[in-house]
Amino acid sequence: MPPAALAHLRFPLERTCGRRYREPPHPYRNEFQRDRDRVVHARAFRRLENKTQVFTPGLSDHFRNRLTHTIEVSQIARTVAGVLGIDEDLTEALSLAHDIGHPPFAHAGEQELDRLLSGFGERFDHNLHALRIVESFERPYPSFPGLNLTFEVREGIVKHSRDFSPGEIPELDEYFPGMRPPLEAQLIDLCDEIAYNTADLDDGYRAGLVDIDDACRAVDKVQELAETAAIQFPGAPERVRMHSVVRGLINWLVSGLMEGTVAAAAALASVEEVRACDGRVARFSPETAAGTRQLKSFLRDTVYESERLVSDRRYSTGRIAGLFEFFLAHPDRLPANYLEESADQPLHRRVCDYIAGMTDGFLLRTCEQMNIP
Ligand code: MG
Repeated sequence: MPPAALAHLRFPLERTCGRRYREPPHPYRNEFQRDRDRVVHARAFRRLENKTQVFTPGLSDHFRNRLTHTIEVSQIARTVAGVLGIDEDLTEALSLAHDIGHPPFAHAGEQELDRLLSGFGERFDHNLHALRIVESFERPYPSFPGLNLTFEVREGIVKHSRDFSPGEIPELDEYFPGMRPPLEAQLIDLCDEIAYNTADLDDGYRAGLVDIDDACRAVDKVQELAETAAIQFPGAPERVRMHSVVRGLINWLVSGLMEGTVAAAAALASVEEVRACDGRVARFSPETAAGTRQLKSFLRDTVYESERLVSDRRYSTGRIAGLFEFFLAHPDRLPANYLEESADQPLHRRVCDYIAGMTDGFLLRTCEQMNIP
């Protein structure tokens, strides 16, 4: 692959649609670098440290949490952007922001809030919630609400995992419905997949849920990497060989992502053409796409559907539902300043947003304080 093979598809910073509120330029940081820094300094970003990725802490201090996962995504995505020659700053800002809308207790928490809101004819989606965080909940500036991020970062946040058609989500009509986001944004979703699939294999192994021989039988590439590791380091302990398998997998998937994307972009000449494509341009090569499918299905059976994680999820969704019902019945127990700030929203939304912003630890402490059984 030639260096900077997709430099002609890099989003040109000078063509940004800009910020909602005008601000003077910074003397030495460009607009996407400023956005990256705004995300890092956001309170919602710091809370990622105490939010579950897959494994709730307790049994080990070495499992990924949502913050370390975010750092892994950002590091993978920056590498990919650098090799392909697209905008590294936009890529980095988007990867750091990609999970800030996650409620406590990972996907189980998101599904539970969605279920609770559906009783009121509404939905909860962590990407839309992330947009509300950066547009209004964060309030570090005196002259406007939110972080006042550039349009491209906000567009990347709402199109993190899927695109939408015109009229499908009316409140997002300004974000080019029916069009693909720039390549920088498209890549984040797949870098996210690489990061969590490999990390969940690693954490699953450390948690005793993944057996290396089972993983070899289920995922061809794991078998190949494990054989290589056994030949290269015959005396190494199993956990060290497992680490070299995980490292090899990340390398293979990242290379496959770059190859697949370069091949798919062969006929494209500009960012406008990327936007106008029927589907997304960023993709894995056929072999790495097949490997990803094998890995996902193995992880579903051994990790995500394991008795331990299923019972963890049952416990945490029960806590979320209990707290939601409690605040609906006793809105006066919500903090006074929050009640004031959110006065324009219906009660179920205020309760949902309040819970969605919590860390896992804060949610459990709140349940205790409110005597929720
Ligand atoms: Mg993620």
